[in-house]
Amino acid sequence: MARKIGSRYTANQILGRGSAGTVWLGEGPEGPVAIKLLREDLASDQELVGRFVQERTALLGLDHPNVVSVRDLVVDGNDLALVMDLVRGTDLRTRLDRERRLAPGAAVAIVADVADGLAAAHAAGVVHRDVKPENVLLDMQGPLGPGGSHPALLTDFGVAKLIDSPRRTRATKIIGTPDYLAPEIVEGLPPRAAVDIYALATVLYELLAGFTPFGGGHPGAVLRRHVTETVVPLPGIPEELWQLIVQCLAKAPASRLRASELAARLREQLPTLAGMAPLDVDEPDTGPAREPGEATGSGEPAVARVRRGAVPLVPGAKPDSNRDTHTSMRVPGPDELSGGARGTARAPRAAGAPRPGSARHRAMARRRRITLGAVAVALLAAIGVGAWLAASGDDDAAPSGTSSSAPASP
Ligand code: ADP
Ligand code: MG
Repeated sequence: MARKIGSRYTANQILGRGSAGTVWLGEGPEGPVAIKLLREDLASDQELVGRFVQERTALLGLDHPNVVSVRDLVVDGNDLALVMDLVRGTDLRTRLDRERRLAPGAAVAIVADVADGLAAAHAAGVVHRDVKPENVLLDMQGPLGPGGSHPALLTDFGVAKLIDSPRRTRATKIIGTPDYLAPEIVEGLPPRAAVDIYALATVLYELLAGFTPFGGGHPGAVLRRHVTETVVPLPGIPEELWQLIVQCLAKAPASRLRASELAARLREQLPTLAGMAPLDVDEPDTGPAREPGEATGSGEPAVARVRRGAVPLVPGAKPDSNRDTHTSMRVPGPDELSGGARGTARAPRAAGAPRPGSARHRAMARRRRITLGAVAVALLAAIGVGAWLAASGDDDAAPSGTSSSAPASP
């Protein structure tokens, strides 16, 4: 199902799909290429068209072995396509899905490559803004590096931003994938190079652990964790490597390393990581709550779960042990109170909270219902007293809200 793209290229076979289109293995005058084709039904979407043009602009003048080069932008009838260097291999997400966790040596080598690519982008005044495993390609035909990994290349500059260019998006609009978003973006600050470092440190953590440090559950909860939570060390991780991750996940952008420094510090550690097996890490205990009656094994979670630490919202205050504090400040609806939550999303179970359906959970729910009942009775009483007071004061109160009270103009 070959297809002509402009006068110079043919798209032959689908390599991958992204949010806005399809990436094809293609052929051009100088040999094989990758062609990213905007979906036809999206061709009239000005924002997406803008992204394609943006990707081309961001990469002009950026030539680096760890960045996928864009060669051409083709506009042909309804077709809009980016022609890129072909990377023969897989993306990092596919590899991570297959292996679940990477050996520290391989993870560090890949991340060091991406950090080098980022250093070049940042030097050219470009912030990537969407660093994540899907956007890292592994070149299986490239030479094996010191970490036993093939070269890694950063791709998909579709939402990249030229530093200090006029803002293309409104300040209130967050761009990026929740798991990798730096806290300053959540707080509404403009994205600087340090947001890419935060995202890349998140990727490194994910490659080692098999999950991201702040992901899981509702996107709003993920964003909040970026701002309020800290990471705790992964079991068995070499201290120096952990310190690098912690530094690059710092809440304050200025505390993070620069890309070139990160690459150098990671490479320094490669010799000591050689031959080390993937870390033995359990999934964090923040998955969706189980259905009542579902098998829960021996009850409470077993050993060495990774627990997240909490940072106080108010400096100097004691961290709150209940992670749901900010999401549970909501008055429950009547059907939730009666136990039949309809149309409400289920929040992830907080660390230490009882499993739904367990005896402890039922006892807590009963206690909560009694407390809420008492609060409701108190409220009704207060409303009754208020109404009585208002009624008794009506006689001498001036009528309010009537249009006739406006003084007539002379
Ligand atoms: P999107 O902007 O839609 O997310 P990406 O640029 O991330 O698109 O590409 C989507 C997928 O296509 C990638 O995850 C990868 O599997 C494949 N791909 C992208 N670019 C190339 C390339 N230059 N060479 C080979 N495969 C690629
Ligand atoms: Mg992508």
